[in-house]
Amino acid sequence: MLDPIQRQLLGLDENFLAYSPELNSRLHPATLAAVLDLRARAAKFDFDLRIASSFRSFERQLLIWNNKALGLRPVLDSAGLPVEMHRLDEREKVFAILRWSALPGASRHHWGSDFDVYGASHIDPEYQVQLTVAETETGGPFAEFHRWLAVELQQFNSQFYRPYAEDHGGIAPEPWHLSYAPLAKNYAQLFTLDLLRAQLELAPLELKDTVLENLDEIFQRYIRVD
Ligand SMILES: [Zn+2]
Repeated sequence: MLDPIQRQLLGLDENFLAYSPELNSRLHPATLAAVLDLRARAAKFDFDLRIASSFRSFERQLLIWNNKALGLRPVLDSAGLPVEMHRLDEREKVFAILRWSALPGASRHHWGSDFDVYGASHIDPEYQVQLTVAETETGGPFAEFHRWLAVELQQFNSQFYRPYAEDHGGIAPEPWHLSYAPLAKNYAQLFTLDLLRAQLELAPLELKDTVLENLDEIFQRYIRVD
């Protein structure tokens, strides 16, 4: 039997979440309060901080994974170009998906402490947010916001950090992905390979045998990020 924290770590619990109409997002109540505070500070610099993606359940991540494995949803390479999945063997497919998508059960978005952010004040209201590195760099629509955010995160009392700031050969850099440290540091400590393996063994997961065979490597490269 899983205890409540284990269920939360795996994205199996939604009862601990709170909803903010202002952010149109569900997160852990402590995270939401801190994000609203960060949003107020951003507003002083004329940035409209918004959340692109917040809590995601195991079921939702499972659907994303399976659709990518089955070719029902595009899988992109490091340059953002579609991968020809039918040309890949099973192991290659698994690692192609992992470049941009977490395994169900292993997404930090399960925790209620992690979310994807952008600053919307200087963009066209019709603009479709893509969450690409190019959007955050000079010339991109969120470059100024990300420059402000980088300075903000360096403050000694900042409660947020970027777990995927750099590319270590696993997950692509995601400067927009923020973790609320008081919760996320703790959850990252509690999350284990055994917990994930037991959950995946039970799940209707595409490419399951290959995932389980490679789970040690996946865990080292894609999951233990703190
Ligand atoms: Zn994210």
